[in-house]
Amino acid sequence: MTVDLSPVTEAQSSSQGQQTSFFEVRDLHVRFASRGKLIGAAPPPVKAVNGVSFAIEPERTFGLVGESGSGKSTVARAILQLVDIHAGSIILEGEDVTTVPRSDELAFRKRVQAVLQDPFSSLNQVHQTRRIIGDPITRHYGTSGEDLDTAVMQLLDDVGLAREFLDRYPYEMSGGQRQRVSIARALAVEPRLIIADEATSALDVSIQSQVINVLKRIQDESGVSFLFIAHDLEVVRHVSHDVGVMYLGYLVEKGDSEGIYAGPTHPYTEMLIASIPMPDPVEQRKRRELRQAFINAEPPSPSNMPSGCPFANRCPVAMDICTQVMPEPAPAHHGGEVRCHLHTSGPELAGESVVSFIKSKA
Ligand code: SF4
Repeated sequence: MTVDLSPVTEAQSSSQGQQTSFFEVRDLHVRFASRGKLIGAAPPPVKAVNGVSFAIEPERTFGLVGESGSGKSTVARAILQLVDIHAGSIILEGEDVTTVPRSDELAFRKRVQAVLQDPFSSLNQVHQTRRIIGDPITRHYGTSGEDLDTAVMQLLDDVGLAREFLDRYPYEMSGGQRQRVSIARALAVEPRLIIADEATSALDVSIQSQVINVLKRIQDESGVSFLFIAHDLEVVRHVSHDVGVMYLGYLVEKGDSEGIYAGPTHPYTEMLIASIPMPDPVEQRKRRELRQAFINAEPPSPSNMPSGCPFANRCPVAMDICTQVMPEPAPAHHGGEVRCHLHTSGPELAGESVVSFIKSKA
């Protein structure tokens, strides 16, 4: 799996001599306090992220996918220091950036930028594009005057916006144009990693693919890495080299994109893939049949998680062990990892997908 096994350079090794990737999230846990009761014991905390680990290499995109409430955006917020981390660490270019002191915040923001879902609220409505993109350049490099104008115009070119957008306000632009301005603003400080959190989710399909093409071109030209977070598996597939699938705060499967889409090993991943519409009616019928095999049940509450696998009450192939023991990450046949007893304790299924299982029992 490219995510974890790529060779590292000396500069990418940590001070303890442990090999690290360009960027790593290690055993991340995030908890939120539940709303307290007026009387009686405080309710248990919401376990929003539980032991999530993944790595991203230079010039690569790691796609984090899952339904709403899976914890994927909380992972992004933890990396960006917008929520407190309960346990675990975040390593960037061999340096522990789990908690960045206020004095180092500017340097951290230069290396890690974010593009969020709603550019309308993330862009300053009273500033024109010229200033939205120009301010970070001035703040980080001290650039001003004509040099600043040249830099801003170059960034507009990079994201495919005409120069006439220099003097427009966010409310004078479409959603796709605003998102291009957000991307240009992120690129302005030449970051090493961009976190794109549902950055294309609010856009029409045709605009979505245009913005994705912009992101891919920028990666080819600048070598920036992306953490691309989305609930749409098909979009993630188009943009990502490696993929992680989250369910109720757990990373249940990770590996290279091709391997996961060709042969998912976790039943939840299969369910998500089965939800992608197919133009071929025969394939579409197969997928619909597979989707029907899954149990239509509410996921458990993240403040009252079961002791076993959190997917057990929706999983058509759950075994006794699944409701009692939380599966640990284990090697998957595509070279990545999967958290599912089928691949460690399942006597009939080791190395096979749930699709094969369902077909064999049909
Ligand atoms: Fe299904 Fe068990 Fe695997 Fe969970 S551990 S996904 S319940 S087979």
